[in-house]
Amino acid sequence: MRLLFVSSEVYPFAKTGGLADVSEALPRALANLGADVRILMPAYGCALRTVSRPQPIADLSGILGVQDARLLSARLPGSDIPVWLADAPELYQRDGLYQNSQGEDWPDNARRFAFLSHVAARIGLSALEPRWQPDVIHANDWHTGLVPLLVSAHAQRPACVFTLHNLAFQGLFPAECVAGLDLPPGSFSPDGAEYYGKISFLKAGIRFADKLTTVSPTYAREILTEEYGFGLDGLLRSRASNLTGILNGADYGIWDPTYDASLPANYDFSGLNGKKLCKATLQQELGLARNPDLPLLAFISRMTEQKMADVLLEIMPKLAQQNLQLCVLSDGDHGLEQRFREMAHAHTGTFAVRIGYQEALAHRMLAGADLLLAPARFEPCGLTQIYGMRYGTVPVVRATGGLADTVVDTSRTSISDGTATGFVFADPSVAGLWEAILRAVAFYREPLAWRRLQLNDMKQDFGWHRSANAYLSLYQSLTADLPAVTSGVAVVAGSKPEPATEKATA
Ligand code: ADP
Repeated sequence: MRLLFVSSEVYPFAKTGGLADVSEALPRALANLGADVRILMPAYGCALRTVSRPQPIADLSGILGVQDARLLSARLPGSDIPVWLADAPELYQRDGLYQNSQGEDWPDNARRFAFLSHVAARIGLSALEPRWQPDVIHANDWHTGLVPLLVSAHAQRPACVFTLHNLAFQGLFPAECVAGLDLPPGSFSPDGAEYYGKISFLKAGIRFADKLTTVSPTYAREILTEEYGFGLDGLLRSRASNLTGILNGADYGIWDPTYDASLPANYDFSGLNGKKLCKATLQQELGLARNPDLPLLAFISRMTEQKMADVLLEIMPKLAQQNLQLCVLSDGDHGLEQRFREMAHAHTGTFAVRIGYQEALAHRMLAGADLLLAPARFEPCGLTQIYGMRYGTVPVVRATGGLADTVVDTSRTSISDGTATGFVFADPSVAGLWEAILRAVAFYREPLAWRRLQLNDMKQDFGWHRSANAYLSLYQSLTADLPAVTSGVAVVAGSKPEPATEKATA
């Protein structure tokens, strides 16, 4: 199985969230199952600073009129997996993957990610690297949504799988962009990638991929409804027979307190002394009162309404009246960031807020905290609650998407039958989150029951093996159906392939 895995972010080269973690871990797990995987991503400045000795392997100049561009080859750390970097300095050499420092989207995002998609399509059609033709291209999220559209215009082509990591981000751009994207004729139509007068990269992926996946079974059901479908539920329902929910996993090579090099002490379920030291060190690092007995809550997340950061902010005055501590590591909405800072300022020693993106601190918080707050209005999968469990940091989550699929609510029954793993609430409101936190904190004050809950969490196995097998089966089901790509099929910049045709799977 030759697989080209295309993603806008891949840890450790570039990361803004869970997509990067998945794009590192899933290809690695697939390679372990014997797949011949290559990863394609943009050569952002941060990526080029992370790779060692990237080798140029193909010329990309001319694609979308970009003159200075090449394909570089590096390796995923600690593996033989090739990472191909689309190096086009005018598109990718800037701070911020998608936005400038003011939080504004780069004005040429449509061109930047259309370029990435064209590179993927050319590799898929063996126009760039004739010695290696993928059987399947696995594209991820809106940044790569044009890949299935570009590839589907060809009779002889690889199969395309498109994974929806978050329907809230759709890659919507004004119609004026379309002319510069070198799309097949007819692409900008209601039956193609047009969405209410704009072009939607996400719609293109949904419409033209052979198979769609999303990152948890519950989210796969939710997105078929108006409430969670972000305007695409109708299209998704029309493709429901080709949509599967496959739960994300954790790369325990990175997210396990037994080996985690970011921690002041390592530990595992055989003894939690190391965790106590992690807590004391974290309290000191963040300027919190050094008290081992106070429950320490952590929120490690993008600062958005999706993650209910606004709701957390609302209950912070009430939390300050409780005997507990809260640490926050987050960035996103500038208005919310400022209000969190003010809240921390008003309650030093009780609340600690760090605005920004700090990978190692995220690990130290996961280890040092007692409770991991992962509320969400919607959550395709969520990874922090999965990581939290391995660190013995009990998650508090809302019953939605992957949170519902990974956390079992704690009750006397679920504690005694050994299934409890966290605290789950239904209503995405102040009252909902507040009630769950109170329940969790009350439980924390029962040391024996708490210890049992922690150990149960630490023994959960969300490793990638099962889900990687599910992806492999999906790829295999597709390759049997499609004609192989023959060497020499090449799309050159500016050429216009035949219009996209309705595929049997659509
Ligand atoms: P999403 O992808 O929606 O942002 P996930 O829970 O799937 O949420 O993944 C979030 C990932 O990003 C985790 O690896 C988490 O540790 C990390 N993360 C989120 N915010 C920060 C931050 N401010 N600093 C460091 N890591 C963060």
